[in-house]
Amino acid sequence: MSVTAITGARVFDGESPLGVATVVIAGGRVVQVGGEAPADARVLHAPGTTLLPGLIDAHVHTSRESLALALRFGVTTELEMQGTNTRGNRAHLSGDDSIADVRSSGFGITPPGGHPSELFPEGFRPGQPPGARPTGPPPLMPFSTTPEEAAAFVPRLIEHGSDYIKFMVDDGSVEGHPGLPMLDQATLNAGVAAARRHGMLTIAHTLTVDATRMAIEAGIDGLAHLFMDGPHTEDIVAMIRDAGVFVVPCVVLNASMMGIGGGELADDPRVASRLDDAWDTALRSSFGRYPQGVLGDVLASVRALSDAGVDLLAGTDASLPLPFLGGLAHGASVHHEMQYLVRAGLTPVQALRAATATTARRFGLADRGRIAEGLRADLLLVDGDPATTIGDTLNIRAVWRNGVRLGS
Ligand SMILES: [Zn+2]
Repeated sequence: MSVTAITGARVFDGESPLGVATVVIAGGRVVQVGGEAPADARVLHAPGTTLLPGLIDAHVHTSRESLALALRFGVTTELEMQGTNTRGNRAHLSGDDSIADVRSSGFGITPPGGHPSELFPEGFRPGQPPGARPTGPPPLMPFSTTPEEAAAFVPRLIEHGSDYIKFMVDDGSVEGHPGLPMLDQATLNAGVAAARRHGMLTIAHTLTVDATRMAIEAGIDGLAHLFMDGPHTEDIVAMIRDAGVFVVPCVVLNASMMGIGGGELADDPRVASRLDDAWDTALRSSFGRYPQGVLGDVLASVRALSDAGVDLLAGTDASLPLPFLGGLAHGASVHHEMQYLVRAGLTPVQALRAATATTARRFGLADRGRIAEGLRADLLLVDGDPATTIGDTLNIRAVWRNGVRLGS
């Protein structure tokens, strides 16, 4: 078994900076943190760098190609919030160390004609991302309009390999489709209760304050978005905090909805060198469906939630390289999101936690998200010190998934 020791690098272990420490990996695992490099180890001496846990994107819609792109940016795990990469469908992905690992909700519970149908042009098939392999059973589309239907879909979703259960709570107002069919409170309550009875983590798509209240009232565990239809109030922040709910703000998505794309990010040579033309074009574009939104309000809400002690997770909502879903790119946008979190007022260390240890803890991914003995050797090595300068996360020197160095 080959043993690698990374020496001379600062270590951020997912929670805190540890200072300079030796990290030893073997057999796909971290086997030692601190101390001396073993005599038989191949040594990578890397002064001036920082070793981090591989990043986790807590909100994507993905494919093999997108998972490959994510890994090039040091994102070693993507959490799909609607898509086909459920447990029985991903053997060919989970065993491939040249792409990021993935977990998936399968499809979200929504009424027929409900979100996200309004995002796609007529005839577009969101269930079939380009490159998706037709392996495993066809995806289960859990269209529900009654409490009985929603509750009945939960065990079927679990059977189809969902890792967590997603609920869409969206009346279309933010996407320019007011009156979109939406889960009512009773249906949402019944679905969430059923999921919890089955021991499943529950996540809601909510873009407005009202939808956020509905999800919390139903007993949701986490929010896959942050509301963007107005400034926060003390009341809504207290409600989120008191419920112990985590939030994946996806500031990059809210910005894109307001017409603010990722052009500046795409101009960064550290990003440009990793994107093909389709992703470059998409990243420079935007959803642009809610130009009346105020990004400053979103950033202030992020800050208020952080100050209240709410767990924040870095997510992007990156999906396909299409201009109408633009402003986002797999991997790259996780770095962009951390920059936004710092702009909102989080410390760089808080932003790094949001993309590593906090996400692993809230999703029960006990084998990753931190650098500690016995955990997966999912690692990112960067020049500089992102614990003080968040932009340094893009100074990517090396990426390991499961102990395998990308490109080796
Ligand atoms: Zn999404």
